[in-house]
Amino acid sequence: MKQKNNKFIEYMNELFTDAECELKFGSEFELLVSVILSAQCTDKRVNMVTKELYKKYNTPKDFANMPQEKLEELIHPCGFYHNKAKNIISASKDILERFDGKVPSNMKDLMSLAGVGQKTANVVMAVAFKGDNFAVDTHVFRVSHRLGFAKSNTPEKTEEELKKAFDKNLWSRLHHQMVLFGRYYCKAIKPECEGCKLKDMCEYYKRKR
Ligand code: SF4
Repeated sequence: MKQKNNKFIEYMNELFTDAECELKFGSEFELLVSVILSAQCTDKRVNMVTKELYKKYNTPKDFANMPQEKLEELIHPCGFYHNKAKNIISASKDILERFDGKVPSNMKDLMSLAGVGQKTANVVMAVAFKGDNFAVDTHVFRVSHRLGFAKSNTPEKTEEELKKAFDKNLWSRLHHQMVLFGRYYCKAIKPECEGCKLKDMCEYYKRKR
């Protein structure tokens, strides 16, 4: 197992030397809003929307006082705009009222905000607060199952399996690398297996043949 893990880590480092979050943000609060917007939406589209949005509105106060319909219109291209707008407004109010206007820097408080589940909280912790977190999104889930690093059927349990499989200091970096690997190589449909250096250790590839 150790050899397999090391080979995977090496390949990720080879492909993605400077792996980082592809969402563009200028503050912890902007990152939180962007991660909420990124559910079921590409980072590219979120960045296009937030590029304009954050020019005018980028603090909890701006969103807490905004009529929901107005925010829905502004974030419409990100999809699920009704729920996302409701959650952003509610989270902004909570941040103002309960956290003195600051995005909380621990999992428990982050997850008490509207629209913030374990994955979102993990991303905010890892990216904004440099925590050792392993966020499991759809890409991380797929890649880790294809390669056999995880077997369980929920993101939460997959996160536990990945945390056991890899050293803590690698979690956050591996998360970013696995997101990029899943997005550009190990894609959901038609993964680029032929050029992949992990073929001989990939359970999905072996099953496919
Ligand atoms: S061999 Fe294919 S399925 Fe397996 S990790 Fe590589 S790209 Fe993904």
